[in-house]
Amino acid sequence: MNFELTVLGTGSATPTLNRNPSAYLLTVDNEYFLIDCGEGTQFRLLEQKIRHTRLRHIFISHLHGDHYFGLIGFISSLNLNRRTEDLTIIAPRGLAEILTIQLKHSETILHFKINFIETNPDKEELILDHPLLTVETIPLHHRIACCGFLFKQKQPKRNIIKENLPENFPIPYILQLKEGNDVFDELTEKTYKVNDYTTEPPPAKSFAYCSDTAYNELKISQLQGVDTVFHEATFTETELARAIKTNHSTAKQAAMIAQKSNAKQLIIGHYSSRYDDLTFHLLEAQEVFANTHLAIEGQVYKI
Ligand SMILES: [Zn+2]
Ligand SMILES: [Zn+2]
Repeated sequence: MNFELTVLGTGSATPTLNRNPSAYLLTVDNEYFLIDCGEGTQFRLLEQKIRHTRLRHIFISHLHGDHYFGLIGFISSLNLNRRTEDLTIIAPRGLAEILTIQLKHSETILHFKINFIETNPDKEELILDHPLLTVETIPLHHRIACCGFLFKQKQPKRNIIKENLPENFPIPYILQLKEGNDVFDELTEKTYKVNDYTTEPPPAKSFAYCSDTAYNELKISQLQGVDTVFHEATFTETELARAIKTNHSTAKQAAMIAQKSNAKQLIIGHYSSRYDDLTFHLLEAQEVFANTHLAIEGQVYKI
């Protein structure tokens, strides 16, 4: 049972040669969920050997370019690769209009359908109910409409102990056991007890993505007990005034949100181009919340 985050882009608005703009890939079982799609994200997906057929959902937090300028290039490439499967894009109002006009003037006819789901920056809402997970929006405080996303895995099914099962055990019976039910076989009049043939499933995991945002405690109640929170840390405390002015956060503030939310793990990213060395981001955050990690491009984090 996979639940992990691949970091594709950790930069912010201005480009640098060693960091890419925002993009993160959540893997749940064999399904991919792309979160933000900054310029060049399709190249990062190629580097990571991500199979596009397993990607059906893209989440865009807000319409600052460092979070979505990679989208039209990626969609065009999917089309050239003859994608036919639907793609769902969850994003603020305006993105459908932007993409439609880009496709119109390049006279591109897509071979696949894009379903747009509009986020509402003013309230938390369930935005996706998927067989593997649910996703809620997290209203964030930024210069334009912006939502984070709270991914909550659905309770995984019990694990089958294959070696304990008789040969050719019927699949409907296996499904019943995975659901946690004993199975009575009428032919043999034997009862298969769920505890003899399965083990407890791992607990359901949760992941919160919070970028971009000023320090704001309103989201803390929604994030209570989350397993992993990604929080932007554009600046360190030496640039607190700039963080406040631009509606961004410092590493310390990101850690305060993780601590007050009783999160188990914090990943920080969305670093300003003024920083080459991220040691101070890490130290500053760890002083408040010890289990903090820097988002490093190409790395995979267990949630
Ligand atoms: Zn940004
Ligand atoms: Zn922004």
